[in-house]
Amino acid sequence: MLQKRPLNPALRRLSAAMLCLLGVLIAALPSTGAAVCPGPVSVQVLGSGGPIANSSRASAGYLVWVDGSARLLVDAGGGTFARFGESAADIADLDAIALTHLHVDHAVELPAYLKSAWFGPRERPLPIVGPSGNRAFPDLTAFMQRLFGQDSGAFQYLSGYLSGSGGFFKTPLYESDADSREPHEILKTPHFTLFATGVTHGPVPALGYLVETGGRRIAFSGDQNGNNPAFGKMIAGADLLVMDHAVPENTDDTAASLHARPSEIAQLADDAGVRHLLLSHLMPRSERVLQDSLALISKRYHGKLTVAEDLMCVQLPHGKE
Ligand SMILES: [Zn+2]
Repeated sequence: MLQKRPLNPALRRLSAAMLCLLGVLIAALPSTGAAVCPGPVSVQVLGSGGPIANSSRASAGYLVWVDGSARLLVDAGGGTFARFGESAADIADLDAIALTHLHVDHAVELPAYLKSAWFGPRERPLPIVGPSGNRAFPDLTAFMQRLFGQDSGAFQYLSGYLSGSGGFFKTPLYESDADSREPHEILKTPHFTLFATGVTHGPVPALGYLVETGGRRIAFSGDQNGNNPAFGKMIAGADLLVMDHAVPENTDDTAASLHARPSEIAQLADDAGVRHLLLSHLMPRSERVLQDSLALISKRYHGKLTVAEDLMCVQLPHGKE
């Protein structure tokens, strides 16, 4: 009868150590299934929902991928941090984070991203872009002070982000005037140039963005009712418009002062000559009648039309054919 020979104790310790090391190595690997977004330029949806908790739609957040690296995060709503972890993006690659406005569903997870990046190899600054304020909303600078201020910030233990001291990388702030009605350049990095203009989101200081990279133009509406001609002017001929679709056509006036109706989305995209319209920021009230709204939009807008899903990558066409 065969008998198992007992391992000599030194060998047993060695194999236990190797198993432990293997476990550490496996834990350090990126999660399986996550793929780099393809093409020279892509947009990945981290969150296609609004402020209501939803199993399949996180709140607002998008990544702009350039040559296989995620370079820009637009908005940091609830749930997007976990989606970021599910994506193949590396937080050390980000050149900037741009917030369209300071509603919870667009900004609440900013501290989580910054804290996460602290554990990586990042030493270079991470610029943060955001709007000016008004009586009801802090401007970006006050927002960051209230989060990270040394004496009274909610997360004062991370105050080094504001000064770039104590082992923290710096977060330079680029504040854009939300009352502006002229598109303007707000940030230039080695991988993209970011333009902004104020947009109308009820009483909320809010920005719309245009990203130019490698000859492509990507527009982010943020939340807006579509009535500001400056935004249409800024995004003229854009390859992609990521647009909030949060209300149905027959919505009330209050909601319509915050978000564009489907007919207004169609008019904006058509007038601006947008090539691809990606509807996002869906909420139960807009999703319930989605097919009706798509039909309505298609009557006026004849470019490519897509409904966003979390983690989808939208590849931009190769160059200007
Ligand atoms: Zn929103």
